[in-house]
Amino acid sequence: MGGTFDPIHHGHLVAASEVASKFDLDEVVFVPTGEPWQKSKSTVSAAEHRYLMTVIATASNPRFTVSRVDIDRPGPTYTKDTLRDLRRLRPEADLYFITGADAMAQIVGWKDVDELWELAHFVGVTRPGHELHDLGRTDVSLLEVPAMAISSTDCRARVAVAEPVWYLVPDGVVQYIAKYGLYRGKGRPSDDGD
Ligand code: ATP
Ligand code: MG
Repeated sequence: MGGTFDPIHHGHLVAASEVASKFDLDEVVFVPTGEPWQKSKSTVSAAEHRYLMTVIATASNPRFTVSRVDIDRPGPTYTKDTLRDLRRLRPEADLYFITGADAMAQIVGWKDVDELWELAHFVGVTRPGHELHDLGRTDVSLLEVPAMAISSTDCRARVAVAEPVWYLVPDGVVQYIAKYGLYRGKGRPSDDGD
């Protein structure tokens, strides 16, 4: 499952858990993006922060792991490169790529989209506020998952105005955000709790 994970939240974790269960996956590899090319105009937190929050959020699940392939590869992240790197590291694995409905809708605009279908089986999951389109392909599955109306954008906006993100993101991620002062609005006091 690729993502910016800025920060990782329970929408990501529920989607991953549901797909793992429904498709009987041995492992879900969370892959924080390097420079996300779709988001290059906006500011994205340092890759190390996003990586560590993803590690904290997934640490308790024995089937969840985190890969550095995208953050260690220089330049913008393309899903084609992510899947090639994962395949190289796990040559025997059947790869599934998990995306939410919004990312699925953009998929046809991705670079080298035809190559992508050969690299992995794509699973599009439902996401509140986004329609999940049937691409009419047998190598793409659609899965309805419990509706979690959570986005990283909303979590960042909440932190910026000192609103809580408890229970939207894992407890350790709440604490990590506070510890490093991520997403704070300019001029906010440094000790305003959550
Ligand atoms: P941002 O608001 O910064 O774009 P985001 O919440 O969309 O953050 P991403 O890191 O962009 O999170 O998403 C990574 C993947 O997780 C994408 O495929 C996205 O569609 C999916 N996803 C994110 N949130 C949810 C959710 N609440 N339910 C289902 N899928 C989700
Ligand atoms: Mg997003």
